[in-house]
Amino acid sequence: MRSTLKRTWAQIDLDALEHNYKTIRQKTGQGVGFLGVVKADAYGHGAIQVSGLLQELGADYLGVSSIDEAAELRYGGITMPILILGYTPADQVGQLIDLRITQTVTDFDAASEYSRAAAAHGGTLRVHIKADTGMSRLGFRGAGDAFDESVEQICRACSLPGLDCEGIFTHFAVSDESDEESQEYTQRQFELFTSCIAAVEEKRGRKFALRHCANTGATACLPETYLDMVRPGLLLYGCGAFAKEMGLRPVMTLKTYISTIKSYPAGTSVSYGRRFVTERATRMGVVPYGYADGFLRCLSDNCALMTADGPAPVRGRICMDMCMIDLTDLPGVKAGDEVEIFGSSNSADDLASAAGTISYELLTSVSKRVPRIYYRAGKEIARELLLRF
Ligand SMILES: *Cc1c(COP(=O)(O)O)cnc(C)c1O
Repeated sequence: MRSTLKRTWAQIDLDALEHNYKTIRQKTGQGVGFLGVVKADAYGHGAIQVSGLLQELGADYLGVSSIDEAAELRYGGITMPILILGYTPADQVGQLIDLRITQTVTDFDAASEYSRAAAAHGGTLRVHIKADTGMSRLGFRGAGDAFDESVEQICRACSLPGLDCEGIFTHFAVSDESDEESQEYTQRQFELFTSCIAAVEEKRGRKFALRHCANTGATACLPETYLDMVRPGLLLYGCGAFAKEMGLRPVMTLKTYISTIKSYPAGTSVSYGRRFVTERATRMGVVPYGYADGFLRCLSDNCALMTADGPAPVRGRICMDMCMIDLTDLPGVKAGDEVEIFGSSNSADDLASAAGTISYELLTSVSKRVPRIYYRAGKEIARELLLRF
């Protein structure tokens, strides 16, 4: 069964994704691999469709956050290498091996559990070492006194039986910020990362095949950090300031339509809480887009949706399934007209910043009842609804 309901939908422009991918690869140049981060259902765009295209275009690796996300891709026909960026319990190692998934190793205890589980399963688990150079989240701590012990432990982890240590990576905390202190911090993280690699490689007498650290900010601004492979997420989806600078295009356009238009006299309160009261005769459109679709309720009375004739302010509290937009100054807009929530004419970054958040959160909040409609060469090629029928 597929939805025929015209409600709120996400148009996913695979041509824009291809353009973004090719533009990034052109920038990073020959000899630098590409890991596309497709965690969180490819930042809300649909992981299988996005990964399928990246695979077709020749990307080298995919990054996900969990074994479930990795398994979804394998069952969806994705055969290229996949790295789980987060933790996986050791009792899942058999499945990782069978599905040919690469696992991140964040500390020596996890490595030895993986090693034992791989031996018990009868196979080899491919792993990438995670170095913590200043994000203070997952990984072998590289800073200060911890450096020597971490180098030692990484070496021991890499030589455990049943583990094939293909790569090493780290993650930047402020590579997307332009102030001097942040840039210095990123530089220090990078130096710590390269010293850690050098020490481990020297001690082991072998090189890592894949050293990677460049997320969106570093891919856009710091070519010296590319090493063997870049690892962008948001940039690929064409959001954020760097995407704009590089001429990348937003892949997702979230749209809805006007289901009804009503007219109210001055002094009419609108929606829950009666926070908005009309000050004049008002033409109000109702659109089927609410916080259960991914609208952030804190944007109530604090943003506009884009009609063909210009922005229409959101009025009153955003409801679960609907919200109201003021069309008084847009007399040409009619019931049934399409409205852009965010995309090429209403940027997700602007909407996110009005909500005090980042476009990452807006994209990943688009909920499962919003169908994703895929376009290639301008034509609709697929339609996916994540509800269970
Ligand atoms: C999410 C994530 C990325 C991608 O981050 P962007 O800012 O979207 O480029 C890269 N590496 C790791 C480890 C991540 O968790």
